[in-house]
Amino acid sequence: MKQVLVLGAGGFIGSHLVRRLKAEGNWVRGVDLKHPRYARTEADDFVVADLREPANVRATIDRTFDEVYQLAADMGGAGYIFTGDHDADVMHNSAAINLNVVDTCRKHGIKRVFYSSSACMYPQENQRDPDNPNCREDSAYPANPDSEYGWEKLFSERLYLAYQRNHGLECRIARFHNIFGPEGSWNDGREKAPAAICRKVAEAPDGGEIEIWGDGEQTRSFLYIDECLDGVLRLTRSGFAGPVNIGSDEMVSINRLVDMVCEIAGKSLTKRHILGPLGVRGRTSDNKLIRQELDWAPSASLCDGLTKTYRWVEEKVVRKETDSPERATL
Ligand code: NAD
Repeated sequence: MKQVLVLGAGGFIGSHLVRRLKAEGNWVRGVDLKHPRYARTEADDFVVADLREPANVRATIDRTFDEVYQLAADMGGAGYIFTGDHDADVMHNSAAINLNVVDTCRKHGIKRVFYSSSACMYPQENQRDPDNPNCREDSAYPANPDSEYGWEKLFSERLYLAYQRNHGLECRIARFHNIFGPEGSWNDGREKAPAAICRKVAEAPDGGEIEIWGDGEQTRSFLYIDECLDGVLRLTRSGFAGPVNIGSDEMVSINRLVDMVCEIAGKSLTKRHILGPLGVRGRTSDNKLIRQELDWAPSASLCDGLTKTYRWVEEKVVRKETDSPERATL
C-alpha cells in the first residue's frame, strides 16, 4: 500500500484526487485549511493546517511519502484573479506554500512531487486571437502572464525544477486548463465559467435573460475533473517531468458554452453582455506534447462533462442551497 500526501485536499481537484487515490487502495493523508465543502473527505487522515507556516508543513510531511500532490493555492475564477484586489495575497500565500513544501520534501528525501501549475502562466500576447491562441509548452518564454496568479505559477514551476536539478527531487508539473465538474465552487465568488454559467442558467426562468461578462466571443477549453485526474496520475507515475498541459483542446467561445448549457437545461435564454473581469481573449490546451510523452490526451466531450456538472448545480439551485461562508479566509 502506497503512502500518499495530498496538499489542498479540501479543494475541488484535491478532494476528487483523494477519492481516486483511495479507490486505488492507497493510504492517503490530506491537508488543507478546510474540509471539502460538498462531501466528506475519504482521506485516512485529514489535517486542517495552514501550509504557509513552515512548522505546519514539517508536521504534515513527517515521513517519506511515496507520492506528494501539491494542489494548495490561493486561487479562484476571473472574479477573484483578474480584479487585482487579491494580487498580494495570491502571490504571497501560494509562493509561501510552495517554498515550504518543496524544501520539506527535499529534507524528507521524498522522491516524487506533483505540482499543479496553470495555463495562466502563458504570455498574454500569444492569446489575443480567439481563434488561434498559442499555448504550446515551449511558448512560455519570454514570460508575460496576464495575472499575478500566473506569475506565481511560473515562479513555482521554476522552483520545483531547480530542486529537481540541484537536489534530485523528482517533480512532475502540469499546467491545468480550466478544470470543471461537480463539487467545485459554484456561487462563492471563486467559481469559474462552467459552474457560473450552469448556476445562472439553472436560476433563470425559461425565456429569461442571462448575463455574460464581455462580448462572450472569448474562447476557452474546459476539462472534466475525471480526465484531469487521469492525466495527473499518468504524469506523476511517468518518467516525464513536464511542464505539460493537462487540458482539453475542444475550444469554444463563452457564448457557445452558454448555448450548450441552455440546450442541456432545455431553456431558451437571451444573452445580455455586461462589463466584467475577463482574462485573455483566447486559450486552449495544446496537446501535442502530452500525446508524445504520455501517449495519452483527454478525449471526452465537453457536453458530457457539462451535463453532469449542470445536474449537480441545478440540484443545489432547486434546493436553494447557499454555500456555507466557511470558505478559507487567509
Ligand atoms: P481550490 O481552491 O478548490 O483548491 C485549493 C485548496 O488549497 C483550497 O481548498 C484551499 O483551502 C487550499 N489552500 C489555500 N491556501 C492554503 C494554505 N495556506 N494552507 C492549506 N491549504 C490552503 O482549487 P482547485 O481548482 O482544486 O485547484 C487546485 C490546484 O490546481 C491549484 O493549485 C490551482 O492553482 C491549480 N489550477 C486549477 C485550475 C482549475 O481550473 N481548477 C486551473 C489551473 C490550475
